Amino acid sequence: MAVRNGGEYKAGLKDGREVWYDGKRVEDVTTFPEFQAAIQSIADLYDLQHDPAHRAVLTCEVPDLGLVGRAFEMPRTHEHLRLKREAYMTWARANCGMIGRSPDFLNVMLAALAAKRGFFAEASPAGADAMVNYWKYIAKNDLFLTHALLDPQLDKGKLRHQQSDPGICLRVVDQNSDGLVLSGIKRIATAAPYADEILVWPFPPAFQPGEETYANVFAVPMNAKGLKTICRVSYANHGKRRDFPLSSRFDEMDATVVFDNVLVPWDRVFVNQDIALLNRMYRETRMRELTAHQTNARLEVKLGFVYALVVRLAEAQGLDSKPDIMEMLGEAVVRVEMLRNTTRAAEYQATVDPENGLLYPDLAALQVGRAWGPIVYPDLVKMIRRMGGGALVQVPVSMDEFDSPIGPHIERALRGAAMSGVSKTQLLKLAWDVCGSEFGARHELYEMNYAGERSALLAGIQREYPRKGEWLQYLDGFLGAL
Ligand SMILES: Cc1cc2nc3c(=O)[nH]c(=O)nc-3n(C[C@H](O)[C@H](O)[C@H](O)COP(=O)(O)OP(=O)(O)OC[C@H]3O[C@@H](n4cnc5c(N)ncnc54)[C@H](O)[C@@H]3O)c2cc1C
Repeated sequence: MAVRNGGEYKAGLKDGREVWYDGKRVEDVTTFPEFQAAIQSIADLYDLQHDPAHRAVLTCEVPDLGLVGRAFEMPRTHEHLRLKREAYMTWARANCGMIGRSPDFLNVMLAALAAKRGFFAEASPAGADAMVNYWKYIAKNDLFLTHALLDPQLDKGKLRHQQSDPGICLRVVDQNSDGLVLSGIKRIATAAPYADEILVWPFPPAFQPGEETYANVFAVPMNAKGLKTICRVSYANHGKRRDFPLSSRFDEMDATVVFDNVLVPWDRVFVNQDIALLNRMYRETRMRELTAHQTNARLEVKLGFVYALVVRLAEAQGLDSKPDIMEMLGEAVVRVEMLRNTTRAAEYQATVDPENGLLYPDLAALQVGRAWGPIVYPDLVKMIRRMGGGALVQVPVSMDEFDSPIGPHIERALRGAAMSGVSKTQLLKLAWDVCGSEFGARHELYEMNYAGERSALLAGIQREYPRKGEWLQYLDGFLGAL
């Protein structure tokens, strides 16, 4: 198999996986109403890979692999990086940037991990081979991965093995000639109910002696025996496309995953109970350079979409050329452009890693997007609230009401500046899905958290800042000359 289409992706999900929703086991995720829209939105991405208008960007030939999705490629030239960004944005445009964990995110993470074979080989050549072979396997079969990194929020003052129940955090409970056996809990696996496989590694990577059994990196299919997926409540508003234009299509499900004596075969074990190696993995595999390139490109699309919505809301009231509104819109533009420039600046300043010959985008430039995303996205959502005002709660229950006997009154009550009541209401319904619905609230939370807890992220940015020495030297030179 090579590049999949949407139908092939859906067919692969009928595999007996154990998914729980509201205390009941889901028999078939592909027909379960709460997942159907999200699954379709992922299937649409796979279909795009076959669209003549997009396939040259979305797919590429990779030696040893054949034709694969663009994210799987290990970048070696500036053109590779540009095409990757184009591919990420093409997929993001298909969902207004609202699918955070589209397949490309983990596909490029796998490429990054496989590109650092030497890192994994430090501990075990078998683990390193397993990592590279896994990247090849997922790429050749064009599979969709979820990932779960975090332990449950327990007592943060205690290590994993010191918790009241040391078995809550995921750890090795046995090992045999077939592989490792793991039990425990991980979160938050977005898209887990309808992903093909799950990649697990621990975050934040700060292990201390005594926690060895928790320090593992591995992958299993979502139908692995003993793997249970527990879903949050759906925000999907399925079937209500005009009333909830985003949540009815793009509500990606978040889940907790429980491992109940799950066997991980040795060829899927990449790091085995090694705290020293895992504490260095996040930084030294350079995965962030490649994943943040994808996440910033995706966020650029989302910010651009929301910016355009704020503009239209201003126009709908004839306010778009008022000075204070112009100022607000300018603030919105600055936020979109900030994200836009992180990817381009990172590509421009990319450097070759002599160890593997890959061209890595500049991490410091990409970190700006990861650190500012949690600020600028809520800023834009606030602008939606400001521009929409009370009209956001004036909308009728359903767009169909315009065709009901009360329709003419609704039309007059919601009419805008050179805009019909029905058009303005459609705009407001979209605005509410961004700023007021459960889906909208989940998206603010997502942008605040997807790159990890922000204060830890910022501390890492300061710790790793590559130009720190340069600036300090400049300052010290100035002081020394006084
Ligand atoms: C919508 C959504 C989707 C997600 N999808 C995924 C996914 O697909 N895969 C995945 O692995 N993860 C996913 N995540 C998890 C995400 O990475 C985490 O939420 C994020 O890293 C924050 O971690 P946390 O939730 O444990 O919060 P915490 O780290 O527990 O933070 C909660 C609060 O406690 C504070 N705090 C934490 N530690 C300390 C301390 N030592 N001292 C003082 N204050 C502290 C924080 O500042 C924060 O205010 C998702 C999260 C969300 C919200």
